[in-house]
Amino acid sequence: MKTDFLIIGGGAIGLSSAIVLLEAGFKVVLIDRSATGTEASWAGGGILSPLCSWDYSEAVTSLAENGMGMFERTAAMLFDATGIDAEYQKSGMLLLPPYQEKIATAWCKAHQVALNHVRLDEHLQGMQGKGLFMPGIAQVRNPRLLQALRRRVDMLGGMILEQHEALHFDIQQDRITSLKTSNGSLSADAYILAAGAWSRTLLGEHAMGMEVRPIRGQMLLFKFDAPPFSNILLQENLYFIPRRDGHVLVGSTLEDVGFDKRTTDGARTYLLQRVHALFPDWPSPVKHWAGLRPGSPDNIPTIGRHPRLHNLYANCGHFRYGVTMSPASAKLLLDAIGGRPDPVYRWRE
Ligand SMILES: Cc1cc2nc3c(=O)[nH]c(=O)nc-3n(C[C@H](O)[C@H](O)[C@H](O)COP(=O)(O)OP(=O)(O)OC[C@H]3O[C@@H](n4cnc5c(N)ncnc54)[C@H](O)[C@@H]3O)c2cc1C
Repeated sequence: MKTDFLIIGGGAIGLSSAIVLLEAGFKVVLIDRSATGTEASWAGGGILSPLCSWDYSEAVTSLAENGMGMFERTAAMLFDATGIDAEYQKSGMLLLPPYQEKIATAWCKAHQVALNHVRLDEHLQGMQGKGLFMPGIAQVRNPRLLQALRRRVDMLGGMILEQHEALHFDIQQDRITSLKTSNGSLSADAYILAAGAWSRTLLGEHAMGMEVRPIRGQMLLFKFDAPPFSNILLQENLYFIPRRDGHVLVGSTLEDVGFDKRTTDGARTYLLQRVHALFPDWPSPVKHWAGLRPGSPDNIPTIGRHPRLHNLYANCGHFRYGVTMSPASAKLLLDAIGGRPDPVYRWRE
């Protein structure tokens, strides 16, 4: 089998990368060691924005803003082409106190992001006090987005090989000649590493300055007959994401515990305490899960060509905002492949 690109990893990043490459006319094979769309990209909340953008550098802001700007069109195109509705909706995000009002206001003004000072009871029945409302923030429903991305890859002629675990690269004279997988060797003109939290592990001694590592996040899911509110709520890193069908996702934890994807009683208790502090009458959650974010320093991903291995590219390390960044990140990868690398997200030696 001969292909232009072999992508390792079928999360939001690998699938989005496959789509831009296929649309550009390349042949693409994508492998995943399990089923596509079942790791961090599935586990995430689908908020299409950093939580408090003012906490991050311009490198994060710019990639996130570009992704946010592309998402409405991307979701509509995917719906049109695949018939799968990723449930993109501009539900807006309401910040509950305490928050850094001056910093948030100044940041939003500087970045021309809408921010309204509101009374909470205008958005949440019976809730007293003031809040900040960001009407432009949108969300998607991750599992559906991933199904749509996968189907689009199929439709464009990409080959997806599931249950193919990448084991190690065969390298000769600074080029990868083949990739050993759990199902035999595969070769391509070039390789793209999009294996999320597992990306660095696969590189071994070739990781150079890439510092991607797993950061666990746990979520609770609640179910109501109808959405109890229509906006995303954020209170000091705890968010509530209302879906159209009455599900509400609540998250999340940030835990540096290695490749351990188990849920814990401690996290469940912590999240429930925070939920009940705001909504004492809420029922028990219907589900509890965990995912491993591809954590990287300052939340800045690595996108571009390996400094030594000439036919290896990375698109990984998007940490807390990989779904938001995915369309813009795939475009940056295509630019890097076309010889226009972005220095901000480059691979560090
Ligand atoms: C609880 C939680 C909440 C989040 N909320 C949000 C949010 O609201 N908004 C947002 O934008 N982001 C959010 N994120 C972050 C976001 O989910 C991630 O940044 C993003 O999913 C990373 O995508 P990825 O494709 O790089 O990784 P993944 O989705 O993890 O995909 C990596 C893929 O690589 C495969 N793989 C790994 N190793 C190998 C191997 N050796 N061989 C073959 N395949 C391999 C895996 O099976 C997997 O399918 C959240 C994450 C979590 C965990």
